[in-house]
Amino acid sequence: MKQYYIKEYSDSHHTKVIIIPIFDDNYVYILTDETRKAFIVDPGQAESVIGVIEELKLQPTHLLITHSHQDHVGGVKKIKSRYPSMALFDYRNCINETNFFQWNDRSFTVFKTPGHWPDHICFFEERNKILFCGDILFRFGCGRIFDGTFEELYSSLQKIKMLPPDTDVFCTHEYTRQNLAFCMSQQLVNRDDFSEQERILIESTPSLPVKLETELRFNPFLKVATLEGLKKLRILRNEFKS
Ligand SMILES: [Zn+2]
Repeated sequence: MKQYYIKEYSDSHHTKVIIIPIFDDNYVYILTDETRKAFIVDPGQAESVIGVIEELKLQPTHLLITHSHQDHVGGVKKIKSRYPSMALFDYRNCINETNFFQWNDRSFTVFKTPGHWPDHICFFEERNKILFCGDILFRFGCGRIFDGTFEELYSSLQKIKMLPPDTDVFCTHEYTRQNLAFCMSQQLVNRDDFSEQERILIESTPSLPVKLETELRFNPFLKVATLEGLKKLRILRNEFKS
C-alpha cells in the first residue's frame, strides 16, 4: 500500500491534507500548509505518522482526536513523547455543543456528534471547508452505534447536513465500497446515477475526500427524513454481510 496521499488546496497558504492509510481501512489525516506546522487527526498508530512528519519535515503542533476508540488514539502516547510540545485537542476541550478554535491563522468549528461513541466530536476548518468527521459519517453510510442512541446519531447527522454543500468530507475509515454494496442490495442507490468522475472516486483508494453535496445526494443515512427511517436503515446495515 502507498505510504500516503496528498489533497492540495488552492488557497494562498497552500493548505494540504495528507492522508495516511493505517491498519486495514483507517486513515490518519495531517492538515498542514506552507508554514509546515501540522495538525494530526486520529493517529491510531504512531510509526507511519512519524515517518511522514520526518519525510516532509513537518512541525507537528496539535493532535485532534474525534473520539477515544483505540484505532483513533493508539499512536498518541508515542507521538507525544517524540514531540513533547504538542497539544492535544479532544472532547475535553469542548465546553459547549459548538466550539471555536484558532490554529495557524485559520478558524475551526468543533461540534459534538454523539451516537457512535459518547465523546465523539467533528472538526470543521472554515477557510477551505474541510470536515474531519471521525466515525460518525462514512461514504454511503454512517457510524455504528456502540454507545449511544438513535436519537443522538440522527441529530449528529443533522448537524453535518447543515454545513456548506461544498465541504470536503474526510471520514476515518475506507468503508465506501462495502457501504455501496449495502445500498445497492436495498436499491437505495442506482449506479447509473453516478457521473464518470464519481465512479472513478468510488473505485479509488482513498475514495476520500468526498463533497458533502455528493453524500447529500446519495447517502441514504443523510437522505432519510425521520428518526424511524434512520433506525430501520441502521438495523438493516448491521445485518448486512457483503
Ligand atoms: Zn469508532
